[in-house]
Amino acid sequence: MSVKKQHPSIADSTLPMRPKKNIALIAHDHRKMDLLDWAEYNKEKLSGHNLFGTGTTGSLAAQRLGQSVFTFKSGPLGGDLQIGSAIIDNEIDIMIFFWDPLQAQPHDVDVKALLRISVVYNIPIACNRSSADFLISSPLMETPYDRFIVDYSRRFNKDIE
Ligand code: PGA
Repeated sequence: MSVKKQHPSIADSTLPMRPKKNIALIAHDHRKMDLLDWAEYNKEKLSGHNLFGTGTTGSLAAQRLGQSVFTFKSGPLGGDLQIGSAIIDNEIDIMIFFWDPLQAQPHDVDVKALLRISVVYNIPIACNRSSADFLISSPLMETPYDRFIVDYSRRFNKDIE
């Protein structure tokens, strides 16, 4: 006999994003200068939002922008996972993550987890400068936005013998 086990499911839903966004800034070492230059160029726009970052990137961004940046632990020490957890808790709206395409990282699995969870929760992400330019210049940066959340729990339904 097969029993259909169904986990409690929520329907597809939306999460409201306020006009003032919570933006996470992360860059691997060889990509930090590029991210900091981008942030400085967009300093005025960024000043209207709340900034977060992994340890080193966040501290450097705070110095460069003269704006407070909430810093998590350094990436290799768990900062990426902390940002992932903040995304799950709806505390991060947008992620600018300049990861290094030419160098493996000691915390590659954390990077993969962070990129994956940002897709699950459908937050806008930019992994290079042109994407970050398009993102920061979107009119949606300054307005409310209802972010669509797919109900992936439907896929958890299982047939149990
Ligand atoms: P860092 O971490 O900002 O502390 O250097 C970034 C990362 O490696 O993910």
